[in-house]
Amino acid sequence: MANKSNYNLETVNCCFCGSTKHSNFIKNAKELYIGFDEYFNIVRCSVCGLLFTNPRPTIETIGYFYPDKAYYYNVSLSDQSTLILKDKLLRNILANHYNYPFKSQSNKLITKVQKIFLKNRILGAHIPPYVKEGKILDIGCSWGGYLFKMQDLGWKVYGVEKNQKAVDFAKNELNLKNILCGNVHEVELEKNFFDVVRMGMVLEHMHNPVEIIKQISLLLKPHGLFVFNVPNASGLEMKVFGKNAYFLHVPQHLYHFTPQSIKNVLKKGNFKINKIVHHQTNKDWINSIKNADINFLTKLMESKAINTIVNLVLLKCLLKYTALMGKTSRMTIYAEKI
Ligand SMILES: [Zn+2]
Repeated sequence: MANKSNYNLETVNCCFCGSTKHSNFIKNAKELYIGFDEYFNIVRCSVCGLLFTNPRPTIETIGYFYPDKAYYYNVSLSDQSTLILKDKLLRNILANHYNYPFKSQSNKLITKVQKIFLKNRILGAHIPPYVKEGKILDIGCSWGGYLFKMQDLGWKVYGVEKNQKAVDFAKNELNLKNILCGNVHEVELEKNFFDVVRMGMVLEHMHNPVEIIKQISLLLKPHGLFVFNVPNASGLEMKVFGKNAYFLHVPQHLYHFTPQSIKNVLKKGNFKINKIVHHQTNKDWINSIKNADINFLTKLMESKAINTIVNLVLLKCLLKYTALMGKTSRMTIYAEKI
């Protein structure tokens, strides 16, 4: 175990298959989110192909990379999971096609057409089909934006969050009652209780995602849904930008999943994948260009007109195409407990 001044490093085996053999995937990726001058490697398991940060900060000391000021805990009204669509339109689609108990103001046929265009945005924002008296647990719920929205849509909501300030905001400002402070493996939660467990960009931060998935399986009722998103390390952005890819996010991200490796890991919790939604997020590309410090591109992007053209025309087309191929940098997975 190597000792750095503010945290400790540990070298680990593959958490999926236990293999000690791995090869380098990315060397010397910089910590970019807090702005520390620290570098980390990502390895690929030689047996199962799982990608993970190795060596990595220990569970006891990784808090160094999660200061209160980190954006994970910042209240953001533009959060995609809270305000994705104009409420009226969303509610009409949810009422007509997802069993939500609202009064719809437009007919089934009109909302059927709207649903075709908006289905991936609704699923990508982690809005599952309605369950009467349904209970939803958000693990790593931050300040509670997602739960606040889901409560408004009729769910009984529960959350777990390790940052005390974020918990205080959820409880005091949003009046969410059932928020526990701590790590999910430390807090007490009822088994066979939840209809949906949700994790928004959290699983890749966990030291042992296999154990977490097994625990989530125990918390869910039979056929309950585990809804979560993670970066997709097999996407086009990874190939283009390598160690400068924005979503690598080391050392906070300890695992770097692909559609195949997430499928493998989910099997350990008796989950089958019902659907994968590939997101179309342009900010990952824009930030990767900045990370890579590609001079001429960064300079070009400083021009408002060129920035708009790149954003609207080039990236939108590229993202649409790569999402269809399952090669964008983020994915939402709907997995059912079997
Ligand atoms: Zn392995």
